[in-house]
Amino acid sequence: MTTPQIDIAAAAAQWLAQFEKALASSDEALLRPLFHADSHWRDVLALTWRIRTVSGQDAVVRALGDGIARGAPSGFAVDPERTPPQRVTRAGVEAVEAIFRFEAVDGRGAGVVRLTGDDGGTLKAWTLLTALEELRGHAEKIGRQRATGEAYARDFRGPNWLDHRKAAASYVDRDPTVLVVGGGHAGLSAAARLGQLGLDTLIVDRWPRIGDNWRQRYHALTLHNQVQVNHLPYMPFPPTWPTYIPKDKLAGWFEHYVESLELNYWPATEFAGGAYDERAGRWRVTLAGADGARRETAPRHVVLATGVSGIPYIPDIPTLGEFRGTVMHSSRYDDGAAWEGKRALVIGTGNSGHDIAQDLQSSGAHVTLVQRSPTLIVNVEPSAQLPYALYDEGPPLEDCDLITAATPLAVARQTHRLITERARQIDRPLLERLERVGFRLDYGEDGTGWQFKYLTRGGGYYFNVGCSDLVADGKIRLVQFGEIERFVADGARLSSGEVVAADLIVLATGWKGQEALVRQLFGDSVARRVGPVWGFGPDQELRNMFRRTPQPGLWFIAGSLAQCRIYSKYLALQIKAIELGVLPRGQELAARGYAEAPASAAGD
Ligand SMILES: Cc1cc2nc3c(=O)[nH]c(=O)nc-3n(C[C@H](O)[C@H](O)[C@H](O)COP(=O)(O)OP(=O)(O)OC[C@H]3O[C@@H](n4cnc5c(N)ncnc54)[C@H](O)[C@@H]3O)c2cc1C
Repeated sequence: MTTPQIDIAAAAAQWLAQFEKALASSDEALLRPLFHADSHWRDVLALTWRIRTVSGQDAVVRALGDGIARGAPSGFAVDPERTPPQRVTRAGVEAVEAIFRFEAVDGRGAGVVRLTGDDGGTLKAWTLLTALEELRGHAEKIGRQRATGEAYARDFRGPNWLDHRKAAASYVDRDPTVLVVGGGHAGLSAAARLGQLGLDTLIVDRWPRIGDNWRQRYHALTLHNQVQVNHLPYMPFPPTWPTYIPKDKLAGWFEHYVESLELNYWPATEFAGGAYDERAGRWRVTLAGADGARRETAPRHVVLATGVSGIPYIPDIPTLGEFRGTVMHSSRYDDGAAWEGKRALVIGTGNSGHDIAQDLQSSGAHVTLVQRSPTLIVNVEPSAQLPYALYDEGPPLEDCDLITAATPLAVARQTHRLITERARQIDRPLLERLERVGFRLDYGEDGTGWQFKYLTRGGGYYFNVGCSDLVADGKIRLVQFGEIERFVADGARLSSGEVVAADLIVLATGWKGQEALVRQLFGDSVARRVGPVWGFGPDQELRNMFRRTPQPGLWFIAGSLAQCRIYSKYLALQIKAIELGVLPRGQELAARGYAEAPASAAGD
């Protein structure tokens, strides 16, 4: 596919006009020529109230034409207030990329179309995104819609702002509409968006202090992605901040964020689970304070923002019980200082295993890293930054986020294949050194790299911030798990007969999926109903993430700071729409004409 030399703004406007005409007439014969055979339509709530991708010209045309787009969208036009149409290269393909706006039945929409030329030079859609921006009549309370503050500024004898805040956060005489479990960035992003839509939201987290989820991590931690990618909604990091944010700085920001955005946040509060009352349309859940006090509450929605990694996964390692030293899962490791001069075996070569091995080594421990399976290694700079090039191209953050959301799975996979290949070339010297000491490398399924490892299994890669160099230089010894014949009282005996002595064994063996957490918190039947969480489903979207799940009132949000910034908005819009009665539940959707999309014809 190539893009002819033409006036791209006019071409985008013309495509949108033809698209609107074809949609209005529901005429497949008009729609079909607007799309390439290998095209994709991603709808994020705007026309179907779902987050889903349809691939292949036939499926796209059918989905758009057979009533899925019954929201009668209109007013499609290049948005003059956003980044103008531009020539771009996405997934190795040159395209015209245009951000547009439109009106859907339930609110204002925004979208992105990428046009490429066919053999005859006619521009057709390769990818199309339609996304809901705002519910009609329910704009976020920002900018001109902001609260006036009159409620507490004009009555000199009445409660002031602080009194209002304390009352709002105490929940003495009411239940929250939404309970967000987990006050990391996922929970904060969701709560901030929900709050701006006027939904009464409480965050609970078991850590005693906001930001402890970062504060308690290893001493030297800085974020892996650059600052411009990682902003939270509404409150970007100051431009003075360093490129890689240190953990304690981020933790402190979380405290400011909660204060500034007036989020209701109960630290030191464990969510102990609950049950859904179908008739009342509410949960009955239990919260446990650090002092042992228990409190029942009845939110309409529970948002699990507990991280992709819920419950530690500790594999059954025969003979490990014979080891007489200390054994701990990586989640319990905090600081290497206590292990100075001691010997440690770290089992697992993902990010946690490498980071802990490096922390121990730099604390003066003698470290052996044990590799269980091939691992993807990427230098944190520049290679791990390659996927974020868009955020350096110049468009404002919210345009970058929309453009990111406009990338269907098949295109994202191709993008990441190219990025992985490029990173492999850049990192070749390190990778060859690692192979020389016996490190087993891999590049992800189909060569799609670390991002897809993250999105499908939540790990299996390491961003090298120095540990790979220590391994390659022999400063950290590498042993393959298969070489270990058995564990013995003072370490691990290899098949060669050598005993690798150890005082400490760290199991950096990963985490159980969120299904296990759902089962623990809500029981088997809810877990069965919800099914797998995270990883891609047949509709080419992350399973149960950011959207309605088969369990009414149960939602999930997780992922990178960028992902949570982008999708918290859509999650909040859905909850708001349910509360307003705009978004019908389950079966009522079909009754309103929002039929299921046909299965993808060209899924990746
Ligand atoms: C070294 C390192 C660098 C990273 N760099 C980046 C980066 O640059 N950019 C990026 O996007 N991501 C980065 N990440 C990955 C990821 O963003 C983080 O792991 C992040 O912590 C995930 O945020 P979260 O809010 O989803 O979950 P978490 O931070 O895990 O927060 C979940 C919270 O839920 C609470 N919780 C869980 N269960 C309960 C319960 N039952 N009751 C009450 N509270 C509960 C926990 O206490 C916790 O505070 C990095 C990770 C590491 C380790």
